[in-house]
Order: sequence, then structure tokens, then C-alpha cells
Amino acid sequence: MRRIRGPGLPDSVGGRITAILALLLAVLVVIVAAAAWQSRQQAGHVNDSRQAFEVDSATEQSALSWLYSDVLAGRYILNPSPELAATIHSTEQSTLDHIDRARQLELADGKMDVVTDFDEIRAAAERAIVTRQAAMDATDRGDLTSAGQILIQGVTDSQYLSDAFLRITASETAEVQAASDASRTTAGITMAILMGAAIAVAFGGVFASLALSRSVVRPLLHLGETARAVGRGRFTARADVRGPREVRELATILNTTSASIYERDAALSESSERWRALVENSHDVIMVINPDMTVAFVNRVVEPMFGYKVENFVGSDALAIVHPEDVQKAAAMFTTVTAGLSTPSVNEARIRRADGTYAHMEAIPSLIRWGDHEAILLNARDMSEQRQAQETIAYMAFHDSLTGLPNRLLLQDRLETALAQARRLGVGVCVVSVDLDRFKNVNDLLGHNAGDELLKQAAGRLVGLVREGDTVARIGGDEFVLVLPECDSLDSARDMTRRLVDGFRRPFRVGDRDLHVTLSAGIARYPDHASDAETLVSNADIALYMAKDAGRDAYRAFSEDIAKRTSEWLTLEGDLRRALVEGGIEVYYQPQSRVDTGEIVGAEALARWRHPRRGILPPSEFIPLAEETGLINLLGELVLRKACIEAKAWPDRLNVAANVSLRQFERPDFLERVLAIVKDTGLPHRRLELEITESTALRDVERTKDIATRLIASGIRLSIDDFGIGNTSLRHLQELPVHRLKIDQSFMLTLDENPASAAIASSVIQLGHKLHLKVIAEGVETEEQLSFLREHRCDEFQGYLCSKPVPAGEFRALVEANVDRIVA
Ligand code: C2E
Ligand code: CA
Ligand code: CA
Repeated sequence: MRRIRGPGLPDSVGGRITAILALLLAVLVVIVAAAAWQSRQQAGHVNDSRQAFEVDSATEQSALSWLYSDVLAGRYILNPSPELAATIHSTEQSTLDHIDRARQLELADGKMDVVTDFDEIRAAAERAIVTRQAAMDATDRGDLTSAGQILIQGVTDSQYLSDAFLRITASETAEVQAASDASRTTAGITMAILMGAAIAVAFGGVFASLALSRSVVRPLLHLGETARAVGRGRFTARADVRGPREVRELATILNTTSASIYERDAALSESSERWRALVENSHDVIMVINPDMTVAFVNRVVEPMFGYKVENFVGSDALAIVHPEDVQKAAAMFTTVTAGLSTPSVNEARIRRADGTYAHMEAIPSLIRWGDHEAILLNARDMSEQRQAQETIAYMAFHDSLTGLPNRLLLQDRLETALAQARRLGVGVCVVSVDLDRFKNVNDLLGHNAGDELLKQAAGRLVGLVREGDTVARIGGDEFVLVLPECDSLDSARDMTRRLVDGFRRPFRVGDRDLHVTLSAGIARYPDHASDAETLVSNADIALYMAKDAGRDAYRAFSEDIAKRTSEWLTLEGDLRRALVEGGIEVYYQPQSRVDTGEIVGAEALARWRHPRRGILPPSEFIPLAEETGLINLLGELVLRKACIEAKAWPDRLNVAANVSLRQFERPDFLERVLAIVKDTGLPHRRLELEITESTALRDVERTKDIATRLIASGIRLSIDDFGIGNTSLRHLQELPVHRLKIDQSFMLTLDENPASAAIASSVIQLGHKLHLKVIAEGVETEEQLSFLREHRCDEFQGYLCSKPVPAGEFRALVEANVDRIVA
């Protein structure tokens, strides 16, 4: 009795097939017995037919069981459960049993002519079982991707199996038919009825077999085809629901399974579409790099970012577009990541764009699984703009915005570097501190735009005058510092500095003016004058002070002597500042008298500094300092104010003269400030005289004319101080609306020994009178000098002969005594 029902096979199919086949077999057994009795030779054919039929059935069962376990396995992947797993295992086992059974039957037949590869079939089935187990294990781990991949790998075995089953079934069916034909031809006429029955039964067997084939095997084969199509990934494939109920059920399960796989697949591809959209639309570069450094994937952003086509990018060497200086770093980063070590969270590299420029990229690398190998995932961002901004900020931090020269910070850095190198090589470094002479005047007079323009030109000229490799830094308004590395001697620094000073004798063209701005410079050298940057610069500054003190347009090299004087100078500046604020500045008055009568008609106000430690200091001790530091403005106004206040208390006929320095005079608001002070004090304008020197008056004749005119219009008078030592052109003098000339004291002081002095003095007196100006002589110490003046009809005199400059109180006493004397 053949067992049709395999474990897991539905009962009704087994039952029906069993019933049909049992009947057929029973009839067949009878026929075979009769035939055997009739003809021994014919028995083998009948036996053949029976055997073939059984092999066929066993094979069909194998196919059915296998297909069933295929379907179950598919279901398992969708919904794993221990019960399902057990069923799959027992179904697989029964497949193997059926294969073994078919093989035994074939062996028993002794022919083995149809199927010789049962061993191979069994091996394929066993392999497929192992594969399926692996897929189920993967499913249990939740790794459905691997499960799917494993199943697809197993398709070859499944394909082989179903082909084999199909082949066996087909050939066995043919054999049954052949056996039937044989029995028909060998049956004797004497057994015609019996034989007719036998033929009928044999045909019945064939028909049953064919019917079985039509009703079960074909739907099953179709089902197998469909299952394989699904296995190959065609999830839209659907099995026809036909054949016996169990087959229909199987078909339905397969259809539901493939439909649900299709849905999952669709959902999966939709979600992978979404991921792709995310990746493609990212503003960051997302790149996958293979272990051999070729690009496996890159998103579209590279097209606008670098100008490369994605197609050209993929497969190319990832390092090919890295800046040559960054290649090593990038390669090291890849190696580190590939080795599973951690890299710095941000890695920077310059990447060449299609146009040859470089983008500054920041990348975060990580190791990922890419298909069947590991790869590097790079998340990179274009930081070029930020980098540019940073560089600009850094540039701004180290450069002067007006001239583009290095600023103090960068100077510091360059100097330190130069010093470090000099120490190593045993060479010298020179620092030259440079200051434009009277730059402030340009600013005050012509405005800041002109000042800026001048500074830019001066910077350019300095850079043009130094060697390549030298640093020119701007560290303040008009202050520059030069670093000359590898300066072999102080003499070469002197030569260099002389070139600078000479180079600044040429005027600068600013707007439509030629500006003469000279330069003063101080030199300090490593290792002669200092060994550190700070002291070196400050010593160069000290030397600069000295150059300025020597009258500007000059340079000096640092020396200890200079240092001492400068430190006194600096102390003095602080003291003077304090004196100006705290009332340490006093005003002395020196009488001015008529030459003919000796009557005091006024006084010159002269500044004195009551120094807390050094007592009363004359102007020669602090006026140059005040001029250099700009404190002269404050000082001049302070003296003017005091003079006005004190003169207001004097008899109305007495005038007061105050000195105005060049810096003061050149201030754009000079006139307004003077008028404001005078107005404040209430002194009548006509009693005030301002003294400016020849050089001040002639610096800008047009402007002097303008101011003089406006001063005179206001009632204040103007005189030219220290007249005779400058080079006033007579034409200018004629044009200037000044009130009087003050013959420089040097003429009086040398009147005796130098005949030229007398000649000049008398000429000045004559000249003044020709121009309708009053003339006053200062420095008159002796009666002889006074008689000279009387002889040449000079108008007034001032000097020790009458009195030294004295405090206000003493001056008033002098005036009273003078009145008494004149009256007497
Ligand atoms: P200055 O304007 O030429 O002043 C005349 C100077 O000659 C004064 O020196 C005065 O003391 C000195 N002197 C007067 N008579 C005689 C004499 O018979 N013999 C000799 N040897 N000298 C005499 P002082 O007061 O030392 O002032 C020097 C200079 O300082 C002044 O020269 C003036 O240019 C400047 N100065 C003084 N006070 C001020 C001020 O308030 N503002 C400005 N801008 N400069 C001032
Ligand atoms: Ca004067
Ligand atoms: Ca004078």
C-alpha cells in the first residue's frame, strides 16, 4: 500500500488520490496475476508499469511537500513562529522521505534507466534545507534583508529540484504508457475478455495518472513556477487558484504572501526613494568611498558645488581632486577610518573645483557597510565662505585697514620670528621707528581725507624703499616701524634709514597740492641695543624722539646717552601734563616800552613752569616738548587766557602780547578759539596782540592773510616775531596785514661785535616804516643798544634793560614806577 499522505499534506487530496489509486492498484494486481498466469514474459512489463507509477507518485509527493514547505518558509519570513518552523522541518523531512522512497522503487525496478540522479536530487534538497534554515535564522534575528538574500541564493537548488520532479513525473508517466502498450500486444486472444479488462484498467491507470497530472501536478507545477517567479523578485506574479482544494489553498497562501511581499517591497522602495531624495537634496556632500579610494557614490550637490558631473565623479579616484598639500592628510584620514580607529571629528581639506579654484571642505568620515564590503561614508561641507570670512577677520586683526600694512600685532610676530632666526644664525636685526614730521598739521589743515591719502602714499613709499623681506608696519596715526632682518651692521641700518629720510624729501601729491612731509627715524639693533622685541622697539622709539628733538627730517641710532635723556623727557611730559591741569603753569610779563620816552606801553606774556622739584623752568625746557606732544595747544590757550585776565586789570593804555606757536596757528578753528577766550575774559580786542614767527606766517601765506585780516577786523593785532632771521619775501610781507615787526633779539645781542647786525636791524626798522608797520626790538640789554634804536627811530623795545619777564604783580609795580619816573 502506497502512502500518499505525507506529513503536512492536506487530508482530502491524499484521501482522494489514495482511493483512486488503491482501486486502480487492486485491479492492476488482479490483471497482473492473470497475465502472469497467461504469460511469464509479460509479467515484467506489468511490473514495470506498476513500479513506474509508484515512482511517479512518490515524486509528485516530493514535489508537493517541497512546494508546500517553500510556501510555508515564505510565510515564516513574514510571520515567524515556532509552530511554523516545526511544520516546515517535518515537511522538508517528508520531502526527503518521498525522494528516498522513489529511489527505492526505482532501484527495486532494477533498471535505473530513467532517473540516475536521485542522489543529486536528495543532495540538492538537503542543501536547500540548510539554506532555508539559514534564511529562517536570519529572519529570527530580524535581518530580513539577509533572509531574502539567502533565499534567493537557494533558488538554484529549488529550480533544480522542481525541474527534476517534473522530469521524473513526465518520464514515469511515459513508462506507464509503454507498459500498457506492451501488455496489450502480448495478451493472447484466449484471454481476450480478461485482457480487454486489463487494457481498460491499464488505460484507466494511464488516464488516472494523466488526470492526476492534469488536476494536481499541473496546478502544482504552475504554483511552483509562480513561487519561483516570486522568489526571483517578481512579486506581482500570482498563481491561478485551481486544482484540488489543498492546491488552491496553497495558491491562495502564495498569492497572499507575494501580495504582502509586494506591498512591503513597494513600501521599502518608497522609503528608499525618500532616503534617496534626502541624500540627493542635501546641501552637504554625501560621498561613499571604496577601500581602493574610488568613489562609489556621491550626491548631486557636487555638480553646483564643484562643477563636476556625478557620472564622472563615480568610479574616479577620490584623492585626485584633493589639494596636493592635503592629499597626505586625507589619505591618512581614510586609512584611520578604514582601520576602525577614530579620526578628529572634523577633517579639513581643499578640493579642486572644475574651474581650478579650491573649495575648503570640512568632512566627517565614518565606516559603513556598502553592499558586500565596507566603505567610507564622507559627510562634507563647503566651508569656503566661512573660511574667507575667517581669513578676512584674521587679516583685519593683523593689518592696518587704511594702508594694508601689518599692524602692531603682526609686527610683534614678525619681529619675534626675525629675532629667533637671528639668534640661530648669529646675525643682527634692526628695528627702525619712523614718524612723519608734522603730520598732524596736514590732518588739521587739509582734513582727514587728505591725511588718509598722505598716509597711504607714505606707506607705499616706505614699502618701496625697503628690501624685500623687510617688514613695514603701521602702529599708529603717522607712526611706522620697520623690521630689517639679517641687518649685518648698524652702518647698513643707517644707510637704509638715510635712504628713507631722503626718500621723503620729495613732496607728496595729495589732491591738487604738493605736500612736503619729512620723516624722522630712530634705529635700534639686535644684539647691540636690546635682545628682546619690546625693548628693541622702545629703544628705536627713543632714538626717534632724539631725531625729532634734533629738528626733525633726521635719524638717530639708539645709545645709552640718548636713553637717559629720553627717559627724562618722558618723565617731563607726564609732569607737564599734570602741570597744565593742576595750575603749575604761570605767566610772566616782560615790559615793552617806547624807545623815545621809555614809557611802558605793554608787555609780552611768557610762560613759566613752576616744577614741583626743579623750581621755575624757562620755556626752553618745555616748549619743544609741548610742541612735540601737542600740549602746546593747551599751554598756548592757558597763557592767552591768563594774560587776558591779568591785562584786563591793568590801565587801559597797556597792551598785552601773547605767543602763538605754529601748531596752534594751523588749527582750522584757531581764530574761533582765540576769539572765544578773549570774549570770555572781557579784554578789549584792541589791547591784545598775537605774535607769530616769520616761519609760521609764511607756511601758508594765503591762510595767514585770511586770518590776519579777520583778526584785524575783530580789533586784535598781529605781529611778526623773531623777524630778520627767516626769509620773508618782501612781497609777502607787503601783502600781510600785520601790525608790527619784532626784530629778533639776536641782532641786539650781537650789535656790538657784528656790524651786519646793526645793518640788518636798521634796515628792518626802515622797511617796517616803509610798509607802515611799527617796529619793536627785543633783547635790549644796554643803553648803547637803546641809543642805536633811538638813532634809527625804532618805535619800541623790550629787554633786560627795562626788566626781565616778571610775575604779574611785579609787572604792575614796574608800570607804576615807570609812570612815576616819566612824570618826574
Ligand atoms: P620769544 O617770543 O622770542 O620771547 C622772548 C625771549 O627772550 C624770552 O625768553 C625772554 O625772556 C628773552 N629775553 C627778553 N629780553 C631779553 C634780553 O635782554 N636778553 C636775553 N638774553 N633774553 C631776553 P623766554 O621767556 O625764555 O621764552 C623763550 C621763548 O619761548 C619765547 O621766545 C617764545 O618763543 C617761547 N614762549 C614763551 N612763552 C610762550 C607761550 O606762552 N607760548 C608759545 N607758543 N611760546 C612761548
Ligand atoms: Ca615772542
Ligand atoms: Ca622773539
